[in-house]
Amino acid sequence: MAGLSERVRALVRSDVASLEPYDPNFTPCKINLSANENTYGMPEAVRSAIDAAIVRTQTNRYPDPMSNDLRDKIAAWHGVRRENVCVGNGGDELLFNFFLAFGGPEKTLLDCPPTFTVYDIYSRMLGTRLVRCPRDPQTFELDLPAMLEAAPTADMVIVTSPNNPTGNVIARADVARLCEACPGIVMIDEAYTEFSDEGVSCEELLGTYDNLVILHTFSKAYCLAGVRVGYVLAAPDVIDVLGAVRQPYTADVFAQAAAEVVADHRHEFDATIQQIRQERERLAAGLAAIDGVQVWPSQGNFLLVRMPEAGVVRARLRDERSILVRDFSAAPGLEGCLRITVGTPTENDELIDAIATIVKEVA
Ligand code: PMP
Repeated sequence: MAGLSERVRALVRSDVASLEPYDPNFTPCKINLSANENTYGMPEAVRSAIDAAIVRTQTNRYPDPMSNDLRDKIAAWHGVRRENVCVGNGGDELLFNFFLAFGGPEKTLLDCPPTFTVYDIYSRMLGTRLVRCPRDPQTFELDLPAMLEAAPTADMVIVTSPNNPTGNVIARADVARLCEACPGIVMIDEAYTEFSDEGVSCEELLGTYDNLVILHTFSKAYCLAGVRVGYVLAAPDVIDVLGAVRQPYTADVFAQAAAEVVADHRHEFDATIQQIRQERERLAAGLAAIDGVQVWPSQGNFLLVRMPEAGVVRARLRDERSILVRDFSAAPGLEGCLRITVGTPTENDELIDAIATIVKEVA
């Protein structure tokens, strides 16, 4: 940790002292395309229903510790039982709990960078051994043969599908092979699955593999990033252990109420999800048409793009245009890369115009 005082450095565990905290690099701006949120916002009718549900909450009472009403709605949605669902304070907390339960000293995580860096941070925080199977440096596709070779000695495998920040997905048949090869737990992080093509989610494998865990969040497609609700689908004994390590009242009354409303109204998000998928392709084509800009195909609500002087472009977008995107140009394997969340049509037009101008000037 840069800047850690000598006093505290002497007191904390050595693996904590070497941690760099997750930094979303947020600064206020006019157009925020940096955090892969749903930029179209909550449908008005759903927001009104959430407001009405929040009015009915009792704040003097503790929330239902296991969020059972919400678990039942999620279970009905996914065709599983309450025992297959664990709710958490965002996907991030569930990931942390996953490491608390299945990681730690003597345990090994198989990680496939470049990917969501929180896995790396949590594994180090809890002293978990890391085995890396890097993605292809050009296409960012998984190295499945290497993963299948490493899987038999892994206690945990995490694959993000669609992958943040590269947009790749894993084929369902490959998830099945990993579940068979790994004696430990295989987590597929499907935080962005709603934006992917039909048939990409590996949810239907849950009935076949009791070591498969699927992570979902209400933060992305369902517009609740500010509220913090995520959930895990898994076999009941896996859910039991996640239940045992979690803090009891982690989803508060407002969060439970809001997520229950969203679960009931989930089909009201279909139109914007479809629009985001279409805008993703339009944005990709617009950016790819700029000289010097490379765009990878993506199944998420974001695009990974490479360009000359990416760090300078990112700073100028922020300072001159008040547009915020995420800079990955210093991350291993992502040199020259920015990650851009798909915005509304006007936001995307403004972004394409700004990048075209700035790239030409810095080239
Ligand atoms: N998984 C992935 C791949 C993500 O990108 C994110 C959010 N950045 C999360 C999980 C966690 O999201 P949240 O905590 O908002 O549910």
